[in-house]
Parts: sequence; C-alpha cells; structure tokens
Amino acid sequence: MEEISGSRLSNPQKTIEIIQKYDFVFQKKFGQNFLIDPHVLDKIVRAADIGKEDCVLEIGPGIGTMTQCLADQARHVVAVEIDRNLIPILEETLKDYDNVTVINDDILKVDVNGLAAEYNQSRPLKVVANLPYYITTPIIMGLFESGVPVDNITVMVQKEVADRMQAGPGTKDYGALSLAVQYYARPYVAANVPPNCFIPRPRVGSAVIRLTRHPEPPVRTRDPKLMFCLIRASFNQRRKTLQNSLNNSPDIDCPKEMIAAAIESLGLPSAVRGEALTLEQFAGLADRLSGELHL
Ligand code: SAM
Repeated sequence: MEEISGSRLSNPQKTIEIIQKYDFVFQKKFGQNFLIDPHVLDKIVRAADIGKEDCVLEIGPGIGTMTQCLADQARHVVAVEIDRNLIPILEETLKDYDNVTVINDDILKVDVNGLAAEYNQSRPLKVVANLPYYITTPIIMGLFESGVPVDNITVMVQKEVADRMQAGPGTKDYGALSLAVQYYARPYVAANVPPNCFIPRPRVGSAVIRLTRHPEPPVRTRDPKLMFCLIRASFNQRRKTLQNSLNNSPDIDCPKEMIAAAIESLGLPSAVRGEALTLEQFAGLADRLSGELHL
C-alpha cells in the first residue's frame, strides 16, 4: 500500500485517494466536509497567528489536512476527533509529525483545562476548528463561559453565523449571539469560503472567523448572568419594544414600572427596541435592575 504520510493532503486528489484507501464513509451526523483548498488552509493558519511556542487545540481534524499545516507552525497540536473511523487515517497522515497528539473523543466531553495543564503548563491554548455548524456555537460559548485558558479561537462557521457574530447595534444580524461573542472576544472575519473548497460540498457558504479573547470584558456589570438574561429576553421578541419584551419574558419577574424607569434612566426612549442597545447599555440596564429582579 502506498504511504500517504509526508505528502500534503490539501488537494482533491490526495483527499479522494485516502478516503478510498480506507473505504471511509462520510458521516452526516458529524458534519464531515473536508477542506481541499490550500489557500483557505493558509488563511486559517495565518489568522490563528500561531508561533513556535504555541500549543494548538484542533477540534475535528478529519483526515488531518489542517493538522499538518498547524503542526508545521506550532510547538504542539492536540487534535480531538469524535469519529473513530478517522483514527487509523490520522495515524497514517500524521505519521511524520512528532508534535501531534490525537485524541478520539467528543470535544464536548473533553476536559480542556486538563489538556492545557498537560500540554501547555496551563497557559492559554489557541483553538482552531472546522466543525459541524450545529455544534459550533455551543462549543465556542462553552470554551468562553467555562473560563478555560484560551487565547483565540479561529473557526470555520456558516457565513450567516460569522455575520451575526460581528454585527453591531441596529443591523439585521445583531442579536444575542453578537453580544455574547463580543462580551468575550473581538471578532475578525479572515476569509469567505465557497462550497467548492470542500469534499463533499456543503449547501451553504462558510467564513473563517477569529475570536481574540479580551483580557478583561469590555464592559463591567455587577451581574453578567442577569445581563445575558435581559439580552436573551430582548431578542426573543425582537420586533417588540424592549419594555414589552422584558415584561413578557417568563424569566424576568419585575414590576413594569421598574423596567420602564430603568430604561428611562439610561436616557433611552420608552419605545426603544433591544436591537438598538449596545453591550454597554445592556450592562447598564442589568446594573439598574440588579437587586430588583428575581431570576
Ligand atoms: N478539519 C477537517 C478539515 O478541515 O478538512 C475536518 C472538518 S469536518 C467539517 C468536521 C470534523 O469534526 C469531522 O472530522 C468530524 O468527525 C469532527 N467532529 C464532529 N463533531 C465532533 C465533536 N463533537 N468532537 C470532535 N470532533 C468532532
């Protein structure tokens, strides 16, 4: 059997060759669309800003296409892959790299703090991922909210999700996801990626977004939990006024008048919609209502 290790995977022929060699069957449930475009790989690796000191956590290495590029740049790469049928393939394609550790597991069950301790002396990891779109948001938010040491996350997402992550107040894409992401990180879209850059082709366009974690949150609030509760309630009924959305929310137990007074005290019109508020204004609202509200 011809060895595929040592050769770059980032082209359609090599990818098809290795898939056929192992009789690999794509699993829809794992969102398996493998990158075949070297320019896109290059953009991802550049966006992740990886240096020789860095330890990278790659989520979902697939057949190892991006892993090879990451391993060329980083001190160490820990690649977590859920599909056990890909493990023998990764053993072959990453054979020449002594700085890669492959773990066969579901990233949602992995102790990322433990990985950072074991492979990076608990210093911040750089995360790179091209994941099934339905788990991308829970994974990103899970990494940020759990406070595991992460420097930046460079991830391929559905184009619309990238637009929402970086949207600002008053735009159609602005919502709870924009505010949640921007509370933890600075988003930067590094590339738009059309479907023909993958095998098999996804139905939607994709984008590579880098989220650089803020050293400190950009706004201060006494009660971030309450702030996010207000944000979710505002955008659950985004066509309604902020006042009505908060009054109608089953999660917010607060007299109408108090909500109206808090909105007014921020200098906002009483008919303002949640989509017009900045993160800072949501933080201000949370501070005014904290102590009055029973969540
Ligand atoms: N990184 C490769 C590339 O760019 O060609 C593969 C990308 S493919 C879109 C997504 C990969 O994530 C697949 O290999 C899939 O099996 C893996 N995956 C899906 N869910 C996962 C999970 N919960 N934990 C770890 N890996 C997962």
